[in-house]
Amino acid sequence: MIGLIGAMAEEITLFRENLDEIEMKTIARMTYRRGMLKGQEVVLLQSGIGKVNATIGTQVMIDHFDIDQIIFTGLAGGLVPNLSQGDMVVANTVTQYDFDLTAFGRRHGELPDIGRTLEADPRLVKLACFAYDDSYKSVPNAPKLLVGSIVSGDRFVSDPRKIEWLQREFGAVATEMEGAAVGYTCFVNDVPFVIIRSISDSADSGAADEFDSFLVRASENSFKMVSSILEVMTYRQEAGEMA
Ligand code: SAH
Repeated sequence: MIGLIGAMAEEITLFRENLDEIEMKTIARMTYRRGMLKGQEVVLLQSGIGKVNATIGTQVMIDHFDIDQIIFTGLAGGLVPNLSQGDMVVANTVTQYDFDLTAFGRRHGELPDIGRTLEADPRLVKLACFAYDDSYKSVPNAPKLLVGSIVSGDRFVSDPRKIEWLQREFGAVATEMEGAAVGYTCFVNDVPFVIIRSISDSADSGAADEFDSFLVRASENSFKMVSSILEVMTYRQEAGEMA
């Protein structure tokens, strides 16, 4: 079963509307909806914002459902100039940029015994790229797709100095508040994961306004991309290509 997680209600609205719901469970104030979406059995969750919420939601989901992979989706601030609102980012690695043991000589984001970055599942990253090509290749003015490093922290970034630091220190292309927490929780549970983000803002001084005005449009793009991933999974299964 596939776990689908988004932080905010607006980010999962279209998923909820399109889900053929079979079962609903509320645990630790979060609601898990199991059902069918685009031919796949999924559990859908709105985790709430931030790393703690994302961690609780991911762990409870893994504990209570037969999850074999997790897709987290939502919005993010772009950190590189060629990313515009609506463009898509697929994380190949995630880092908790605000994890700070630099007082002990460690690097920013470095977790003892683990390191700075966790790798998203390469098969899911490839599948996301394939699904993007499938749904956007011949579409004029389609959003761009970038695969790269996503950094997560418990802060809405709206500061040009922070953008430069995140880009230079981590080689990151986008920043948000949940991906690395989901990645870490999946890593310790041996569950493959991928983070799919639609760019809502430039993480610059006007980011909060950009975010508010683009929330619905960017969420549509995430829904379209994740739906297309599920469709590819379904037709590959039907063709007997993938277990
Ligand atoms: N409008 C909300 C807060 C949104 S926080 C409120 O008032 O409560 C932004 C959400 O989108 C987070 O879930 C985060 O993962 C993502 N995000 C988008 N742009 C971001 C940015 N520039 N910095 C950090 N997170 C961002």
